Amino acid sequence: MGEDPRQRLKLRRIINAAGTMTIFGASAAVPEAVRAASEILPLFVEIDDLQRHASGAIAAATGAEAGYVTASSSAAITLAIAATMTGSDLERIARLPNATGMRDGVVIQRGHLIDYGAPIEQAIRLAGARVSPVGGTKRAEPSQPEGMLDDTIAAALYVVSHHTEQSGQIPLDDFVRICARRKVPVIVDAASEYDLRGFIAAGADIAIYSAHKFLGGLTAGIVAGRKDLVRAAYLQNGGIGRGMKVGKEGIAGAIAALEAWAKRDHAAHRRQEEARIALWMRELVDIPGLRAELSPDPTMNPITRVRLQVDPAIAAITAWNLADALVEGERPIMVRDDEVAHGYFELDPCNLSGSEAEEVAAGIIRERRRAGIERRPASSFAEWSAKRLATRLAWPDRN
Ligand SMILES: *Cc1c(COP(=O)(O)O)cnc(C)c1O
Repeated sequence: MGEDPRQRLKLRRIINAAGTMTIFGASAAVPEAVRAASEILPLFVEIDDLQRHASGAIAAATGAEAGYVTASSSAAITLAIAATMTGSDLERIARLPNATGMRDGVVIQRGHLIDYGAPIEQAIRLAGARVSPVGGTKRAEPSQPEGMLDDTIAAALYVVSHHTEQSGQIPLDDFVRICARRKVPVIVDAASEYDLRGFIAAGADIAIYSAHKFLGGLTAGIVAGRKDLVRAAYLQNGGIGRGMKVGKEGIAGAIAALEAWAKRDHAAHRRQEEARIALWMRELVDIPGLRAELSPDPTMNPITRVRLQVDPAIAAITAWNLADALVEGERPIMVRDDEVAHGYFELDPCNLSGSEAEEVAAGIIRERRRAGIERRPASSFAEWSAKRLATRLAWPDRN
């Protein structure tokens, strides 16, 4: 390890109890990926050959016929959809996002229209495609997509994520069967999933993974799937994919991360995370106004988090003000606060090291105690989110 650059760059040394979040730098890249990236950066290579090698590594890891690496999972969604619209027709590829004369519909369940930092619906439209939502937010029937799969439909997108509506969605197996009957390719967005083989095995034509989340590669997206579609997606680099391309370091990093993933002692990793969870459950009982409970990952990823319910009447602080208090001070603690309006946040063990889990528990106990003593006025959720929005809109200034 070289020196920590954060001081020089005036960056705070955050503790990431939020999980694999892009805004906090996604994940700690694994040493294998860091080495592969730094070794290749000063060299010239034939990118087609490097991507050909990546294709083999992705095929080995996923069971797919082929694969390639692009800038991000979001880019992978746009480019996989473009592939289903253009095939390998170079004239069409150059013409996108003008989709005149092409199939341009993308069927997606309404409960899958998520926002992962940006709306997925926009990643679809970026290709020049049209979003064809099916079902209600909380209920979709297999007969609904079936009726829509006519010859204007280029692809069907299936999202596996904790962001999706979890109830009332069509199971992947059924979705694949319906689409296969109409010969509509199914693209699975599995950006944040551990299971590298299951979606291809279930019949997905393309599965998309993030290289920079659990895999610990550099920032990149992985497209795995049917060879003709992967080729057509790769060819978009001569079209709309130009601005979404990945460099040699990202490709080499993704290959190394996939190889490291295959060798990793996943059980030992899991035990380490379970120990952090046990510590939180132990330390955070009996804190007035806080209730800690286990929160298993909704998509079957092997992660458990701790959900901390905050009762402001007893804790003397709201969930959102507590999350804010944790971010102040010498070692800011980032928690998963996307559902803080419901009165809780979550602690994620996967990106912690050393004694950080203890520091998280100590920080929560300290800030709760301080709230009890100082009795600062609470802000309403509306005030809190207005302030957060104002901060966002002020960048690069600080408000
Ligand atoms: C993170 C995520 C994305 C976006 O991934 P990037 O690689 O950051 O573009 C897309 N879909 C899902 C389900 C995600 O979790």
